[in-house]
Amino acid sequence: MADQYDLVIKGGRVIDPANNLDGPNDVGIKDGKIAAVAQNLDANSAQTIDASGKLVIPGMIDTHAHVFEHVSGRFGMNPDLVGVRSGVTTVIDQGGPSCMTFPGFRNFIAKPATTNVLAFISIYTVGGLEGHYYPYLYGPGGIDVEACSRAAAANTDIVKGIKAHAEPGGISRWGLETLKMAKEASREAGIPVYIHLGELWPVEGDVEIDMDARLPEIVALIEEGDILAHPFTRHPGGFVNSEGKLHPIVNEAIDKGVLIDIGHGSHFSFDMARAVLDAGVLPTTVGADMHGYNTHVPAEAGTPEDHPDDEMHLFAGQAQFSMCHAMTELMAMGVSMEDTIPMVSSHCAEMIGMEQELGTLGIGRVADISVLHDETGEWTLHDNSGVEVKTERRLRPAFCIRAGEYFEADAPILPV
Ligand SMILES: [Zn+2]
Repeated sequence: MADQYDLVIKGGRVIDPANNLDGPNDVGIKDGKIAAVAQNLDANSAQTIDASGKLVIPGMIDTHAHVFEHVSGRFGMNPDLVGVRSGVTTVIDQGGPSCMTFPGFRNFIAKPATTNVLAFISIYTVGGLEGHYYPYLYGPGGIDVEACSRAAAANTDIVKGIKAHAEPGGISRWGLETLKMAKEASREAGIPVYIHLGELWPVEGDVEIDMDARLPEIVALIEEGDILAHPFTRHPGGFVNSEGKLHPIVNEAIDKGVLIDIGHGSHFSFDMARAVLDAGVLPTTVGADMHGYNTHVPAEAGTPEDHPDDEMHLFAGQAQFSMCHAMTELMAMGVSMEDTIPMVSSHCAEMIGMEQELGTLGIGRVADISVLHDETGEWTLHDNSGVEVKTERRLRPAFCIRAGEYFEADAPILPV
């Protein structure tokens, strides 16, 4: 007799925000799809995994990844390292590939990866080389709106948005021209624009860029579904104004349907997070924002390439990092686990218009499942400003199922 299921994950706490499900359940998988979610699933299965004491959630979606390996320099990481081997089933590259390099991204990155790889295409024709190291490549002269929107429209299976920046260094050179162009391409292609906030490039010349005055101009340019990233940045230009308070324009942005991605990476400040969260603003999605400058990749696990040995590249940051670690830090700031799970699943799928395909454990969906350790103990968390926060709860990836296939969370970049 044929097995009813290929795999049953038994006894975990199953949380599926899109279906308002939270409780002890078994998940049955057949032919790479979710076949059943029920208590005490009593059927013959080729394989059974005990998940008792663990969280079983929709396959995590990292809304801010950098995986254009070998092309974006040391910045780009191996997609499966930050993906399935870190418990994440879908990664969305933010601004690595461009209209010129997208075919390479499709064939050499997305195609061979086991992880589901998507992208927000760069508005700049060069894409995110070396983590946008050379500012002069990122002005209006390096943008072709038409070519970008054409590339996006021709690759809708992978391209879900357009990546742009609105930060002091760029504004000192070009004002908000590049964001206007990104918005033009985004309207043309019918996809959202994702905006990096917080100083990235050094300010040019003898100008003072008052980001408190600029943020309302940025918000005026964008619309429902567009995404503001790095709200908790320790660099000037995030959601916290020069008085240390939530900028009032943020609530207006939320009212008009603008989404917020934490984009943890090198930008997460506990003090800034506290100010924003205390003011009642909850981000939409987490976004780990791991890359080769803030994550230590052992030589055998990736491709440590030469890179300009400049201070900008020596981001102080945790050597080992993961999506779960970003969730742990958010929870340490008082956000509930129940509020955090949608920020790595259902909200992410909605952000990219894929809620009919990803981000839930609905019957018939692709079997993308993340299983996490939910641990209690005592840990001290650190941010890049030297602030420490204590926590008694920690999430850690155990394994994931990607399209029905099992992957141990064994990436050497995971925090121990
Ligand atoms: Zn990034």
